[in-house]
Amino acid sequence: MDEVNMRIGIGYDVHALVEGRPLILGGVTIPFDRGLKGHSDGDALLHAISDALLGACAMGDIGQHFPDTDPKFKGADSAKLLGEVGAMLGKKGLKPANIDANIIAEAPKMAPHIEGMCRRISDILEIPIGDVSVKARSAEGMGEIGEGRAIAVQAAVLITKE
Ligand code: MG
Repeated sequence: MDEVNMRIGIGYDVHALVEGRPLILGGVTIPFDRGLKGHSDGDALLHAISDALLGACAMGDIGQHFPDTDPKFKGADSAKLLGEVGAMLGKKGLKPANIDANIIAEAPKMAPHIEGMCRRISDILEIPIGDVSVKARSAEGMGEIGEGRAIAVQAAVLITKE
């Protein structure tokens, strides 16, 4: 990463929505009758951001760092995993300049929870809340996401040298 002051990264994640799980997105528990299936807590937003950060640094992906075959990560709090990714960047003198993410979900309504998600992400990564953007849209009833069987997230990040 010599001589480079800015790096861009993208992340994507998709999880099935299933009964019997809490819905956790962006480190926020959202009241809903289903939640995201996963080895960890299923927080697709924090996973996509973690992947974008790792990608920006060419440090692989969260599957490599926190494998879902490792019982240690069963039910893992994705906020902790994102915090660990943030610390990995910090060790290299890198920090997120800004984060932008899209949640693609048919239900529930994300609007009341967006600010809370941004706050959690800014707290976890110790960056100003003004540098974190989370948006939400539906899939207009199309495909698995539109039928409410899954939620997908895209994230883009820019990182800079501290
Ligand atoms: Mg995931």
